[in-house]
Amino acid sequence: MWNSPKVGILGGGQLGRMLVESANRLNIQANVLDADNAPAKQISFHDGHVTGSFKEREAVRKLAESCDVITAEIEHVDTYALEEVASKVRVEPSWQAIRTIQNKFDQKEHLRKYDIPMADHRELSDNTPEELAKIGEQLGYPMMLKSKTMAYDGRGNFRVNSKEDIPEALEALKDRPLYAEKWAYFKMELAVMVIKTKDDVLSYPTVETVQEDSICKLVYAPARNVPDAINQKAQALARKAVSAFEGKGAFGVEMFLLEDNSLMLCELASRIHNSGHWTIEGCALSQFDSHIRAIMDLPIPPKSLELRQPSIMLNIIGGATPDSHLKATEAALSIPNASIHLYSKGAAKPGRKMGHVTVTAATMHEAETMIQPLITVVDDMRA
Ligand code: ATP
Ligand code: MG
Ligand code: MG
Repeated sequence: MWNSPKVGILGGGQLGRMLVESANRLNIQANVLDADNAPAKQISFHDGHVTGSFKEREAVRKLAESCDVITAEIEHVDTYALEEVASKVRVEPSWQAIRTIQNKFDQKEHLRKYDIPMADHRELSDNTPEELAKIGEQLGYPMMLKSKTMAYDGRGNFRVNSKEDIPEALEALKDRPLYAEKWAYFKMELAVMVIKTKDDVLSYPTVETVQEDSICKLVYAPARNVPDAINQKAQALARKAVSAFEGKGAFGVEMFLLEDNSLMLCELASRIHNSGHWTIEGCALSQFDSHIRAIMDLPIPPKSLELRQPSIMLNIIGGATPDSHLKATEAALSIPNASIHLYSKGAAKPGRKMGHVTVTAATMHEAETMIQPLITVVDDMRA
């Protein structure tokens, strides 16, 4: 079928680890660039891994030498290194897409050209209180002050409730490139995983995401009490946004569903995404399987992205004590239909994603009933 292909992955955290699981099942060798004990390397024994960081030019060069195609589990990579190696090895998605997407302001400026609805926003040029106060008058309060770069799990966001919060907000995001966003009064957060192949743009069903302290906590697939018309509209919007970028693979698209049932893009990611973990149990092909197939130009039957059973995914996040995640896991062992994924990250820190659990059932109600005891355990162990 193919001749011992090798995929290079920048980053070996939990997303890389689950990509390796998918690659392994197709006898595709995944060469991971990260520290030696990274979660993805622990489940993959061969001599093709590279020790180092996805931010080091030399390490990216070394990875490129041994692979047919390289991809990334994270958008915060050295895209100049990717640009350099792109003449020798395929980079998916394109380094241009990753470079634009990794800067949330540039991403939005780019998507604006494609008529993607988004919250009104303004760039800061000198990060002074006067400048932000002026923007506050234009956008109104509350507004969200955001770092353009290196943002994840809400680290990089600060809610500015009034003019009085401005000094604290600027102090919290000191020395970072900033923009401010008008507050989105959403009734629900939705997400869609999009798979871009050599000649298609496919999508998984629309899911509902629940964030706590700006970190994804729960994902409901499909989104609860959302009519099919909105499910379809959200998928179409996600595909349109992703079509604005070059390259193949999985993209995670986060959206707000507003009171009037209109949709607004929150942000997108040029990679496999937490909102798509449910696809491992919920669909015939997971987002990780599809990503590997997309970047290798292997067939992806669209039917394989359809929901097989309603699914709920719960993140296991580091809590108040170093063993909180183990207690949550212990509780999950007795939950019917629960699939447990631990990431082998070692010690837990508050807010660190340590694993996830997915429960599938014939109906969403049944899945909700089965996972509720675990949600209670997790809530009791919050940091
Ligand atoms: P991720 O881990 O998904 O990459 P991030 O750090 O890049 O997160 P965002 O996705 O921009 O941050 O925001 C995190 C959360 O903050 C959103 O899921 C949403 O709950 C809230 N949020 C972001 N922007 C706004 C807004 N303009 N109005 C209201 N809430 C917002
Ligand atoms: Mg983000
Ligand atoms: Mg986000």
